[in-house]
Amino acid sequence: MDHQLIERAAKDILQSKKTIAFTGAGISVESGIPDFRSAQGLWQKYDPEEYAHIHAFYANPDKVWLMLKDMFSLIISARPNPAHIGLAELERMGLLSSVITQNVDGLHQAAGSSKVIEFHGSHRTLTCLKCSNRVDGTTLTLDDLPARCPRCSSLLKPDVVFFGEPIPWDAQIASFEESQSCTAVLVIGTSAVVYPAASIPFTAKERGATVIEINTEPTPLTGQISDYLICGPAGKIIPAIVDEVKKMRGSEKS
Ligand code: NAD
Ligand code: ZN
Repeated sequence: MDHQLIERAAKDILQSKKTIAFTGAGISVESGIPDFRSAQGLWQKYDPEEYAHIHAFYANPDKVWLMLKDMFSLIISARPNPAHIGLAELERMGLLSSVITQNVDGLHQAAGSSKVIEFHGSHRTLTCLKCSNRVDGTTLTLDDLPARCPRCSSLLKPDVVFFGEPIPWDAQIASFEESQSCTAVLVIGTSAVVYPAASIPFTAKERGATVIEINTEPTPLTGQISDYLICGPAGKIIPAIVDEVKKMRGSEKS
């Protein structure tokens, strides 16, 4: 971990009028939920291209539900890691306006972040494909899945955005507003290849925001859109930035 870059990020956050975070699957890897690119785990068993497309769900919902059940079982037992907790702490300190996440796992909220924009939906609710009835998934157990609509008995689909599906409108509007008005963005654990989500750092950059990237490896943003990359696991880097921010704030006051 490059301490000079940790200091630079802390300084940028303290100087920024409005900072947001944009997170991807990488921030939840240390909570035990594998990302799409990881060499092992869930996505070796299920090719996301094959399982995460809405056409696949319509064509063979029972097959896709096997993958969803496996993923949900990981999500249900996952706990927020120091990266999620660090972002919640920045919000409480008045230094983070919102978190825009591509994740559906709810771990930012579990960590205490109150302004979370779920760009790709959430695993917590399900919608009936026939009558549009929305069902609270938090009352269901894994044995209830795949669940059927209590109103019309048709198959339910979790409210997670599959490839080929539109982004929830309210999340799109809120993310656009946040990315247009921020002066710094922390881009954490995303490969930045899934659009339109990946356009968020571009929008911020166009408006002059500082783009701070945190990832275990370079991405298409690195050296192009990012002002700098802090290379390493988010669960180590975010708490280090928060500590540095506290130190700098402490020395400002004294
Ligand atoms: P991705 O799998 O394409 O990329 C993950 C990125 O995180 C990679 O660039 C990787 O280098 C980085 N990374 C891995 N471990 C890290 C760590 N410990 N610290 C910092 N960075 C780390 O994920 P994506 O860009 O979010 O796009 C995939 C899509 O699938 C998104 O919609 C995503 O949210 C969804 N998805 C969600 C979950 C979840 O809800 N937890 C899990 C898998 C996939
Ligand atoms: Zn129904």
